[in-house]
Amino acid sequence: MSEPILDITQSPHKKAKPDPEHLSFGKVFTDHMLTMEFSRDKGWHSPQIVPYEPVSLDPAAMILHYGQTVFEGLKAYRGADNQILLFRPKKNFERLNRSSDRMSIPPVNEELMLEYLKQLISLEKDWVPAAEGTSLYIRPFIIATEPNLAVAPSYSYTLMIILSPVGSYYPEGIHPVSINVESEYTRAVRGGTGTAKTAGNYSAAYKAQERATEKGHAQVLWLDGVEKKYIEEVGSMNVFFKIKGEVITPELSGSILEGITRTSIIEMLKDWKIPVSERKITMEEIHQAYEEGTLEEAFGTGTAAVISPIGELHWEDKAMVINHRQTGELSRSLYDTLTSIQTGKLEDPYGWTI
Ligand code: PMP
Repeated sequence: MSEPILDITQSPHKKAKPDPEHLSFGKVFTDHMLTMEFSRDKGWHSPQIVPYEPVSLDPAAMILHYGQTVFEGLKAYRGADNQILLFRPKKNFERLNRSSDRMSIPPVNEELMLEYLKQLISLEKDWVPAAEGTSLYIRPFIIATEPNLAVAPSYSYTLMIILSPVGSYYPEGIHPVSINVESEYTRAVRGGTGTAKTAGNYSAAYKAQERATEKGHAQVLWLDGVEKKYIEEVGSMNVFFKIKGEVITPELSGSILEGITRTSIIEMLKDWKIPVSERKITMEEIHQAYEEGTLEEAFGTGTAAVISPIGELHWEDKAMVINHRQTGELSRSLYDTLTSIQTGKLEDPYGWTI
């Protein structure tokens, strides 16, 4: 089968670019978007770049009823010499396909998607902001479009990629946050959909996040859904702890999202000869390390913040202040090195950027 040709329709109107000093997250979108359709008889077809505009959906479209959908999130950075860099984008399309597999959505051709993404980014290159800490956030997603109220996988889908210039996650530099350990609500269980980037995982987390916000905490730390004992993730980030010089992150148990930042941090730590292990870790173990004074650092990892140090952990009636609410040395070097690789300030020793 020949590869579908990417059809491009230029937008007749170019929007004014937002003030780079006041960029927020995901509120402003570029002039164009990519769309592609799936039908049972044609497979994935008709890839197009079209002007950014609202979509029209049948009210019976299956996405609106049963939430059959997946998404991804990655960033394009403007390097020092004006080149535009993507960070390990193949991994995002591989993960999109793993999420799709879990949600009974047909897979896309990963290489082809990357080529289409590159074309979309080149068309929108003026939208990639240059200020320190800013980037162009890339949101690929797939929705089930068949008009049918039957509870079954859709026959048709639309894939879209939209782009949003985003501000620095840390306008005043990285600073540790307070975290509430959630002992009642569950994000995901083994065998469920936690390893997939699918909408329901995120809306199901709002309740616990609201509760954490009310109590003055920035994020929720999720425990396993069965025993409420093992640590899983923090907000929409993977989580790492440094205890007695060793870095520990929960193993991919079947309910945790396999973060691309997580994978990169593990690879960097191994390269730096810092002991790192992926294993089950309990809240009890963290509390014990805290009491013994051996809990040195804790941080979340993800595309949005890269590294988010944890300054306080609140678990039932216990409050733990980590590293005097300061950014730890390891958190700082991981953040500096990874962001320098992503923005091309540091020569990429791992071949991660394209
Ligand atoms: N966990 C969850 C639940 C997430 O949504 C994300 C963001 N994609 C992450 C972890 C971090 O993944 P990544 O490093 O690929 O952004």
